[in-house]
Amino acid sequence: MTDIFTKRKRSLIMSKIHSRDTKPELKLKNLLEKRGFIYQPKEFGRPDFINYKKKIVIFVDGCFWHKCPEHFVKPATNAQFWKKKINENARRDKEITLSYQCSGWRVIRIWTHQIKFLKNKKLIY
Ligand SMILES: [Zn+2]
Repeated sequence: MTDIFTKRKRSLIMSKIHSRDTKPELKLKNLLEKRGFIYQPKEFGRPDFINYKKKIVIFVDGCFWHKCPEHFVKPATNAQFWKKKINENARRDKEITLSYQCSGWRVIRIWTHQIKFLKNKKLIY
């Protein structure tokens, strides 16, 4: 699939994807903080949320940066650069997940596109 956006539009999208305090993420933050999670702790792999007591880490993965199977669109320019960078991210995601799991942690990965569906559901943690 090639990029359907113009260069300017793409860079605008990228900048939005890159910012961490996005609105849906803040909603999730409010929900989880009530349940004992800490937002963006300085821990290995930079999880978005951590609950030390329950040993749960949550990662909110951006659709572009972490190669979401539904929304990832291959950029038309610098294809090689992006491919390398994004595959590297995906590889590192797996590494981090495994590392936590091996130490007895539960790892939850959420795509940013899934957050909007969470608001009406009860979180079970
Ligand atoms: Zn997605």
